[in-house]
Amino acid sequence: MGTAPKDATSHTRLANAPRAFEFDEADFERAARGRIAEHPTGVIETPHGVVYDVNRYAFVERNSDNPDTVNPSLWRQAQLNGIHGLFEVAPGVWQARGYDISNVTFIAGETGWLVIDPLTVEPCAKACLELVNAHLGERPVVAVIYTHSHTDHFGGVLGVTSQADVDAGRCRIIAPEHFLRETIGENVIAGYAMTRRAAYQFGPLLPAGPRTHVDCGLGKAIPFWPPGLIAPTEEITETGTELVIDGIRVQFQLTPETEAPSEMNFFFPDHGWLCTAENCTHTMHNLVPIRGALVRDSLKWSKYIAEMIELFGPRVELMFASHHWPRWGNEDVLTYLRLQRDLYRWMHDQTMRFANQGLNATEIAETLTLPPEFAAAAHTTGYYGALPHNIKAVFQRYLSWYDGNPSNLWKLPPVEVGRRYVDLAGGADSLLAKARAAFDAGEYRWVAELVNHLVFADPSNVEARELQADTLEQLGYQSESATYRNAFLTGAQELRNGTLPSRPAGRSGYLDAMTIDQIFDSLAVKLKAEEVGGLSMAINFAITDLDEQWILILSNRTLHAIAGRHDDAAAVTFQLSRPTLLRVVGGSLTFADAIANGEATADGDVGAADAIFGHLDVFMSNFALVEP
Ligand SMILES: [Zn+2]
Repeated sequence: MGTAPKDATSHTRLANAPRAFEFDEADFERAARGRIAEHPTGVIETPHGVVYDVNRYAFVERNSDNPDTVNPSLWRQAQLNGIHGLFEVAPGVWQARGYDISNVTFIAGETGWLVIDPLTVEPCAKACLELVNAHLGERPVVAVIYTHSHTDHFGGVLGVTSQADVDAGRCRIIAPEHFLRETIGENVIAGYAMTRRAAYQFGPLLPAGPRTHVDCGLGKAIPFWPPGLIAPTEEITETGTELVIDGIRVQFQLTPETEAPSEMNFFFPDHGWLCTAENCTHTMHNLVPIRGALVRDSLKWSKYIAEMIELFGPRVELMFASHHWPRWGNEDVLTYLRLQRDLYRWMHDQTMRFANQGLNATEIAETLTLPPEFAAAAHTTGYYGALPHNIKAVFQRYLSWYDGNPSNLWKLPPVEVGRRYVDLAGGADSLLAKARAAFDAGEYRWVAELVNHLVFADPSNVEARELQADTLEQLGYQSESATYRNAFLTGAQELRNGTLPSRPAGRSGYLDAMTIDQIFDSLAVKLKAEEVGGLSMAINFAITDLDEQWILILSNRTLHAIAGRHDDAAAVTFQLSRPTLLRVVGGSLTFADAIANGEATADGDVGAADAIFGHLDVFMSNFALVEP
């Protein structure tokens, strides 16, 4: 099977022909303004390997026309996201950009650095802190603000401070209300599936190149390293809260259920600086990301931007965010914020307008096109989000996945429906002949639907896989949204080369921060219900380091955790610490071994725990997506 990416077809060459944009050319000045230094090599590495390398993207040159395998609008965004370095944003404010998918901001306080959003991983954050200290003079990090509960905004915290410094009160960690709950919450129940799907969204399995990975829309690329976490020492619970952080006044605005379930904007009233977190960046964002997540609230999102304008608008002189470049000057910032506010409102209102007229999500996504007010601005164009799936997200939030047509209420699964469609088409060869004609006509969306039936009916059909790969590839080449491009091209790569070998997925990095209730919830979705019919039992847990009592109950093939007491009739009572429980839940330790090595004690029948712990599923790292 051919494995190399192919040329753009004539249809794709036409679609991707270089063109001039109405977009604001000042974006390139904004993205480069105030650059005072670059990382010496652009390669951030550890003894275990390269974590981030800006040189991989040297092919995305400024002033170069897009290759015919890249959408010209996305190429422009990829050029902007490739501008990296340490930038002076205002006197006393610096950002390191382009050394992770997100930005880290450094503000000089009276005694040290206030760090906003310490990137995704420790090595990148550490490299940026070293860059700042080397060029601006070494200062201690005295405070960290997490703008929201997504990993690329806290995962590198151990690169700028330590748990010991935080515990000793030398560094404050400030976060929006419910930060810890939401950080873990988004990853507990669906974490394994989301991780796999995120590979399609961000494209880490694709090499960098004009026929493969060029950007993530939100930033250049994600780093290769596990994230860390230090829990906040302070949470902001009210809009209007003002803190003085190392001599700097900061006013906070909570924005829950916007871009993240726990998020906040904030303003520096003595300077007119506004941090918009990830609520306003230089892209149309996702109302639901294609990796999967709970759907976001576009109405609230728009209203919180409106509130931000009311609270800080007259005084703002500078806005910066944790992705992309800043904007300067009151009028420019307000123009930008208003268009962002209006974008999220327009997507919400117009989707529901047509929904109330009876159109389903797919129909609305084909009906609505981005009006010229938004299409003329790069920052309201879909490089990370995309209009069709944002419309579907709004629909989903109010009306669910179901379009109301009972013909779609109880559909056959992909393999069965695939076999029947192949049969209806007159067999595989006949279907392929039709599909090839459609491919030659450039009808790639139709080819993808048609050939998908054959791939699911017979994944060993090499011609089907190749044609489907070629089709997804052209869709990827034409995509303006980087996440669409990454998904299409990763799909093409896996059709050609096969999915990477599946193995038991690694232990979740989030386990360490989970509450006991979250740990038991994550355990419950691993229960092989088909093996525990007729069983019911209770196990008591005394969590020694937290001084908590729990009962874990097996009832009608489900697990439930009850806090605050023990059951006298429980089969066994375990006394153990939270870290030991985590190892047992993670499968690296058994209760028997924990007791043998002194990490746990038990009162009762230790073997009884097998009724639960002997029937847990193992989630795999690379389940198939483009084939059955
Ligand atoms: Zn982010």
